Amino acid sequence: MKYVVSVSKKRDSIWKIYYYEKDDDDNLVFKSKRISRLLIPFYKLVKCHRTKMWCDECGQIFLSITRLNNSHDECPYCLIEYEN
Ligand SMILES: [Zn+2]
Repeated sequence: MKYVVSVSKKRDSIWKIYYYEKDDDDNLVFKSKRISRLLIPFYKLVKCHRTKMWCDECGQIFLSITRLNNSHDECPYCLIEYEN
């Protein structure tokens, strides 16, 4: 799954999206890709927001990538603790 964080136009009308994608080890990797003009409204719609969150359980600060109207996210540090 792609987490699109930015849709922007470069020179010569080249549109690009910037997004995070999980690799095989479940790490988020920052990437960019050229897109067709026709897909701009779609990507603007699915665009996510990067927010720094502070967890009041463990005190860690983590990067949260969320969609609009869905600002709640689980703390990755606490999730790791639950798994162990
Ligand atoms: Zn936590």
